[in-house]
Amino acid sequence: MGMNGSTMMNEKLVIKKIADHARRLYGAVEIVSRLSDPDAYHRYTVREMIGRAYALAEALQKLGLRQGERVGTMMWNHYGHLEAYFGIPLSGGVLHTINLRLHPDEIVYIVNHAEDRWLIVDDVLLPLIEPIRERLNVEAIVVFPYTGSPVHPSYVSYETLLATSDGNYREVAWDEYAPLGMCYTSGTTGRPKGVVYSHRAILLHSLVSALPGALDVSDRDTVTPVVPMFHVNAWGLPFTATLLGAKQVYPGAHLSPERLLELYEAEQVTVTAGVPTIWLGILQLLDKHPDRYRIPRMRMIVGGAAAPEGLIRGFDRHGHQVIHAWGMTETAPLGTVSQIKQTLITRSEEERYAWRAKQGYAVPLIDVRIRGPEGVLPWDGKSAGELEIRGPWVTERYFKQDETEAISEDGWFKTGDVATIDAEGYVKITDRIKDLIKSGGEWISSVDLENALMSHPGVLEAAVIAVPHEKWGERPLAVVVKKDGAALTEATLEDFLRERFAKWWLPDAYVFVESIPRTASGKFLKTALRETYKNWYG
Ligand code: ADP
Repeated sequence: MGMNGSTMMNEKLVIKKIADHARRLYGAVEIVSRLSDPDAYHRYTVREMIGRAYALAEALQKLGLRQGERVGTMMWNHYGHLEAYFGIPLSGGVLHTINLRLHPDEIVYIVNHAEDRWLIVDDVLLPLIEPIRERLNVEAIVVFPYTGSPVHPSYVSYETLLATSDGNYREVAWDEYAPLGMCYTSGTTGRPKGVVYSHRAILLHSLVSALPGALDVSDRDTVTPVVPMFHVNAWGLPFTATLLGAKQVYPGAHLSPERLLELYEAEQVTVTAGVPTIWLGILQLLDKHPDRYRIPRMRMIVGGAAAPEGLIRGFDRHGHQVIHAWGMTETAPLGTVSQIKQTLITRSEEERYAWRAKQGYAVPLIDVRIRGPEGVLPWDGKSAGELEIRGPWVTERYFKQDETEAISEDGWFKTGDVATIDAEGYVKITDRIKDLIKSGGEWISSVDLENALMSHPGVLEAAVIAVPHEKWGERPLAVVVKKDGAALTEATLEDFLRERFAKWWLPDAYVFVESIPRTASGKFLKTALRETYKNWYG
């Protein structure tokens, strides 16, 4: 009898379960990657991918990897990175994906703080590594030949490393609570913090992500993660797609709207995922050339920042369904998903769009609540407080930190997001606490204003920020990028917003710019905007 009285097997929820299941059932399913030459595609099967992942695992074991040691990756989205996703954890090591868009000093900090023992780096990314190579405390740098060119002898070649395997992979003493991977938050405030994912967390996350009411992924799908594999495990999709047998298509380093639409058409992609800034560009191109691309009906998972309602309506016009989701590095990342529950499908179109533009309901095994200074708030769609979350793939502390202020006294993770939850359970993020605008003692939601602006036909992108103001404390300022050729003035936008918001919510100024600066994960970099415009109102 089991220790707790149950008579069930104590079967460990570890990465090997995904790898072996996929190889047995979906061995023939294709994995396609765009190479550094965008016209060149690499193709092989799940069987070959898992085989090479085991070869990498064995090679790392032969190099002397001890269980729990970190191996960093600095790679684009392609089959080599996928092999590392499986090979590193299968070796007993920890997959540490590094955001290659970070400042070099931050990369040095993260690699050394994580104590990465080795790094695996795309050859095309060596120019990022070379200037900081001496400062990285790693044993060796393994270079993946993304261009196909031979690897310089001062580095370890990935293929040479794999060739040291000879079928003597050593089974790991599996523990489902042991670390599988890690990722640093981009740390818009303070130092980046490390989040360590257990095998169990990733297994459960993969299962729940695939559910029809969540991201809805199965072997009927062809999945393209545009979200980088260094951004919270590409939202878990490489694991989820492998487990469920979906065909996987990776865009490599080619993330422009033209290149992505080409790829969707060539491989008949049905599920894709990324941050809103990517989709705004794609929608603009589809609107311009509605008949150029022959793409099946896609489900586009949009997260990382709010999906404007205009974006959701826009893709509906082209027959593609936006699925809005919310999550964070600390939640592996899937927390909520916005699909229309069956009990709501007869509601009016307006209502359904309003729900789809919310961040959605908690997926199974995740609990959410909102809390204000006086305590936990009701699910009435009006009360706004800090969103808190609990679940088997939610962080309880950061790497090498004993405690964190992010955990409430009763054990919930405090997200730093302000939200409402309605009676149907749909969470709506009104802002990040640090982006809220406080005008005359009242809060203004920058996200609501941005989403409204981005639903104007002439607006490509908009960010609304708090700017210090003598009389009101802070007032909103809108930074706007026009669509190609759009004639827009401050007055047009003001008229447009006036129909939707109270007068005191309206930005005091609109600044038209060529582009909005981005964070390393492709979100608007509001800290930089606030710095640029801090003296705008005097
Ligand atoms: P960072 O934004 O610092 O790079 P994360 O990728 O972990 O780090 O971002 C998590 C944050 O992104 C959330 O706390 C939330 O503010 C924001 N976010 C994620 N998804 C959404 C969404 N669908 N709508 C609005 N905000 C979102």
